Amino acid sequence: MAATAEWICTRCGSTNRRLVPDGARRAVDECLTCHTRHELEADARPVRWRARPLGKKAA
Ligand SMILES: [Zn+2]
Repeated sequence: MAATAEWICTRCGSTNRRLVPDGARRAVDECLTCHTRHELEADARPVRWRARPLGKKAA
């Protein structure tokens, strides 16, 4: 079974969604809008995940 992780891009503010395996606590996804990679971390709420930008690319 899979769960939906919803996260907000820290760069452009877009809402993204990713399917993750049930019980997963972390994932990596790329923003559909600005293509910034983020590390996702499950929060206390099951749907909305915390997002941190990944990579050292300069804007
Ligand atoms: Zn973005």
